[in-house]
Amino acid sequence: MAEVVRSKEEVRRRVVEARAAGKSIGFVPTMGALHIGHRELIERSAAENGYTVLSIFVNPTQFGPAEDLDRYPRRLEADVALAAEGGADLVFAPAVGGMYASGHSTWVEEARLSEGLCGARRPGHFRGVATVCVKLFNIVRPDRAYFGCKDYQQLKVVQRMVRDLDFTIEICPVETVRDPDGLATSSRNQYLDPEERRAALAIPRALKSGADLIRGGERSPRIVAEAVRSEIVREGRLQMQYVEVVDAETLEIVAPLGGRIVIAVAAYSGQTRLIDNVVVECPQAAGSP
Ligand code: AMP
Repeated sequence: MAEVVRSKEEVRRRVVEARAAGKSIGFVPTMGALHIGHRELIERSAAENGYTVLSIFVNPTQFGPAEDLDRYPRRLEADVALAAEGGADLVFAPAVGGMYASGHSTWVEEARLSEGLCGARRPGHFRGVATVCVKLFNIVRPDRAYFGCKDYQQLKVVQRMVRDLDFTIEICPVETVRDPDGLATSSRNQYLDPEERRAALAIPRALKSGADLIRGGERSPRIVAEAVRSEIVREGRLQMQYVEVVDAETLEIVAPLGGRIVIAVAAYSGQTRLIDNVVVECPQAAGSP
């Protein structure tokens, strides 16, 4: 059974002990309600490090006022069991007051990659993410930290922050884990009723169509985005938030498409906001510079 600790001091003590025993430290930050996507991150960390710390913290500073902070699923006991099965050694589950001192007034802001996609629709979200990641990195002091490609913009923001602020942590991306029907696993999927869940399958389907279009030679980001959008709209029960077809590193539009491209989508099924993406290698069109 992985041990659960609540205080920063206790985590630091355990990590110092593990390091003294010659172990490298892997870290998997989560908000809990763990599923097979999280498990993949934990297993990767356990395979690549002598000691794996998993954090479970529903970070209030990354939620907007109208978002689902209060109803976000919390179920520590089941999470600890799954964490242990995956190979985690320690679960850090702080209370909000244990993470943020009263009067907390210091923020970390990545100013470019955070601007578009989800950042444009969730003001302050990536500031909350970056700040909590820095805090967690300073508490755990890992050698490696594992992030899912499912939250693609988050991964890129964290990689940029680590580079820009000289953290010596290796950020390890992990491919998106999907249910057999193609839906990316997410803690928020449990909000979906069966019909909403069926409708949500249009998202991975549309992403695949977009990727196939690019692989088939389409080089217009607008045409690819339109095709993805219309497949999602055609489903009839989803509410589109955005489709973006952008460079996978800069998250900026490139036209004509070339290099590594990410197609990123956010859409609502019922009240539940879902995100997903696909990365496509896109050879430069013949004749382009
Ligand atoms: P969350 O608990 O949703 O904040 O996610 C914690 C970490 O798990 C993040 O790095 C996510 O990108 C990652 N993650 C969530 N869902 C998946 C998935 N389906 N596949 C891979 N990684 C995931």
